[in-house]
Amino acid sequence: MKCEWNEKTGELAFSSERLEGILEPIISGDRGDSVSHLLRNFAHKSTGTLVSPDEVSYGPCRAGLLSLFKVLARGSYLTELRVVPPAMETILSSPTNRVQGFLAAGHVCTVMGYAEYEPLARRYGAPIVVTGFEPLDILHGVLMCVQQLEDGRAEVENQYARSVRREGNAPARGMISDVFEVIPRKWRGVGEIADSGLALTEAYRALDAESRFGVADVSVDEPEECVSGLVLQGVLKPDGCAAFGDTCTPESPLGATMVSSEGACAAYYRYRRLASTA
Ligand code: SF4
Repeated sequence: MKCEWNEKTGELAFSSERLEGILEPIISGDRGDSVSHLLRNFAHKSTGTLVSPDEVSYGPCRAGLLSLFKVLARGSYLTELRVVPPAMETILSSPTNRVQGFLAAGHVCTVMGYAEYEPLARRYGAPIVVTGFEPLDILHGVLMCVQQLEDGRAEVENQYARSVRREGNAPARGMISDVFEVIPRKWRGVGEIADSGLALTEAYRALDAESRFGVADVSVDEPEECVSGLVLQGVLKPDGCAAFGDTCTPESPLGATMVSSEGACAAYYRYRRLASTA
C-alpha cells in the first residue's frame, strides 16, 4: 500500500510493514494497526511536532525524517541533537576538571566512528574507551580504562569492536551531514559549547519547529541549587549535592544528570546504599 495523506478525512493510509522499522525508535508501543492509530493521532495535532526521543541517537532520525515527512507534510522536527567531542573537550580543559578517562558511547561511535576522539586523548592525556551497553561491556570498558591509567597510557581503545569501526558508518555519516549542520548548543549545567549541536540544514528548514514556531530563543533558567556542572567534571559526587534525594529525585529532577537514567545523579540515586534502620 502506498503512503497517502487524506486532507479531507485527516487520515493516513500506509503500510505499517514498510514503516515500522523507521517508526520504532520514534514511537514506542505495539506495532501494526496501533502504529497507524498513533500516527493518525499525531498527524491530527495542529502543530504536528515530532520531538527526538533521544538527545544523541540521531542516526535513525534522518531516515525517520525523510520518510515520515513525506507522508506528514504538516509535521516539524524539534532537534536537541548533540555532538559529543566538543563537550568532552570542554570538561577536559576545565581548570577544575577531575575526570581522568571516558567511556565513549558505543551506539554513537557505531555511526560516527572514533577517530575524532584520538586528538582529545593525546592532548589531555585521558584514555577513551568505546564501550557497548551490556553489563559485561561496561565492566570491560572500565577495566580497559583503568588499565590504561595504571600503565600511564592515554589512547582510544575499542571495547565494542563487534559494532564499531574507527571510521564509523560512512553512508550514515553522509546522510547526517546532508540533513544536519553543526551549531553551538547550550548544555545544562555547563553552558553553551561551540560546535556541539546539530540543527536542520537550510534545505530542511521548513521542517524545523524552532524556526516554524519562533521558539528558538525560549530558554529555562536552571535551578541555582543544581551543581550538575561540578558533577560532570568529577569535582563533586552526586550525593555531595544538598538537593540530592531531597528536592531532586528522578521523579522530580532539578538537573540533567538526574533526568536521564544514564546520568550520574540518577545512577547514584538508584543504586545508593540506604542507611540501615535496624
Ligand atoms: S542531585 Fe539534582 S540538583 Fe544536585 S547536581 Fe544532581 S541533578 Fe543537580
